Amino acid sequence: MLKPETKREIPEATIRVAKAAFPKGNKIMQLRDEFGTLYEDEDFAALFSATGQPAIAPWRLALITVFQFLEGLSDRQAAEAVRSRIDWKYALGLKLDDAGFDFSVLTEFRSRLSESENEQLLLDKMLEHFKTKGLLKAGGKQRSDSTHILAQVRALNRSECIIESLRAALNIVATVEPAWLKAWVPDDWFERYSLRIEESRLIKGKEARVQYLEQVAEDGFKLLEKIYQSSSHSYLASLPVIEGLRKVWLDQFWINEGVVTYREAKDLAPASQRINSPYDPDAQFGNKRSMTWTGYKVFITEACDADAPHIITNVITTGASASDMNQTQRIHTKLKAKQLLPKEHLADAGFVDSGLILESPRDFGLELLGPLREDTSWQAKLEEAYDLSRFTIHWDAERMICPEGKESSSWSATKDLSGNDRIAVKFKHTDCAHCPSRQLCTRRKQGSRHLTIKPREEHEALLEARALQAHDEWKARYKLRAGIEATMSQGVRANDLRRSRYRGFRKTSLQHVAIAAAINMHRVTDWLANIPIATTRVSRFARLAA
Ligand code: SF4
Repeated sequence: MLKPETKREIPEATIRVAKAAFPKGNKIMQLRDEFGTLYEDEDFAALFSATGQPAIAPWRLALITVFQFLEGLSDRQAAEAVRSRIDWKYALGLKLDDAGFDFSVLTEFRSRLSESENEQLLLDKMLEHFKTKGLLKAGGKQRSDSTHILAQVRALNRSECIIESLRAALNIVATVEPAWLKAWVPDDWFERYSLRIEESRLIKGKEARVQYLEQVAEDGFKLLEKIYQSSSHSYLASLPVIEGLRKVWLDQFWINEGVVTYREAKDLAPASQRINSPYDPDAQFGNKRSMTWTGYKVFITEACDADAPHIITNVITTGASASDMNQTQRIHTKLKAKQLLPKEHLADAGFVDSGLILESPRDFGLELLGPLREDTSWQAKLEEAYDLSRFTIHWDAERMICPEGKESSSWSATKDLSGNDRIAVKFKHTDCAHCPSRQLCTRRKQGSRHLTIKPREEHEALLEARALQAHDEWKARYKLRAGIEATMSQGVRANDLRRSRYRGFRKTSLQHVAIAAAINMHRVTDWLANIPIATTRVSRFARLAA
């Protein structure tokens, strides 16, 4: 059991000196005055053994972690701030002469938080205080968006990833079992793997490069074989870097009649399932429109009512390849668990489809407000072509009538790529083969027109939502979503959100939660000090259009 923290009260001398230094207080002191310590030792009891007591109170470490992100400090700078800053001593309830602690304590605390998957505590415990103070409530308006996060490691291409995976494995084995490795490693490996691989050093020409990579593959297999066959060193197989090497080799090579063969790009597993760097195996390859990156994505949701501070209520970190659409329901589920479900949830087209518009009121009692994606078929892009809107659907008869008056011949249940229910409709081959309007309807060289439609309820919800979204009233309500862009910008510019400080998914997730908590501290203290929320800046030129 954790012993109760006894030094929560701020020592008299610390109060006296802090008030003299900051007669009006500052954000950190205001926070302490308004919310006390924000965290309790018991909140973090699961992180520490039942018998041991952490040297530094967990509530203090949690607070220091958020202060770090509030001010963009490294661990060393944060430890120094604990020793030397009077406002930090005030918030942490420390004596003036408190000697502080070694900065490595912060690393250890983060590891405990992230390994136990408790990083959300930094945000959630804070939200409970805000709810108690009436600064945050369920039932209002909230908005969500996502942005890309660059991993802390350099992006590698396929060839670099393969060679660096073997180099990383060799470096670790050379660290833990140098004599064993030296006893059998071939001399030419020193030439191949001593230096970090750079694109400029790679062999030119596709054929020669593939040959070289297949040589690297054989070397990698040899290392794995030596590890697996050694009774005294097989424990090496459990090291993450060796497991990573095995996975990269599975991703990139296959055995063709006993010969190690480099996989063609078309035979590779999806990017989301491949390791892109041995130095951060969780970092995924992502792409959005013309942008590509290696790393993660963060999804942020914040309150956006006019009469309350815009507090961040939820943060989700995912791999870079995660789709926005798959997070909508996840966000609702998490907000429900925090008893913070809004009445209206605003999000852009990436988060919204007709199924979600239909399910959100039913499952979560909220309205999902966002534009539906346009029909992207070629028929919808040509005014005269026959897109879905030109067909008449007879739901009860399970029939569709085409613009030429022909009746569909087949109506069957199917699934889309994400596993959602769909209906596949086909027309008769004989009708379509001789149709005078065929070129407006289908580009299939042979066969009839096929269409895939959503189930009736969803299809009708889609039509209704599209009609609503054409009205000015809907557009005026949706305008409120744009404010989340400012939060993303604040995160990126003021809190270094864009690049992961750490390697690995869990620590990156912790970073995002700590940044959200830091932004909340900033916003709530501004709100309590009656500093108005900044309005969206409009350029002088744009103002001329008003
Ligand atoms: S191609 Fe077939 S489905 Fe399309 S308009 Fe002609 S008959 Fe109808």
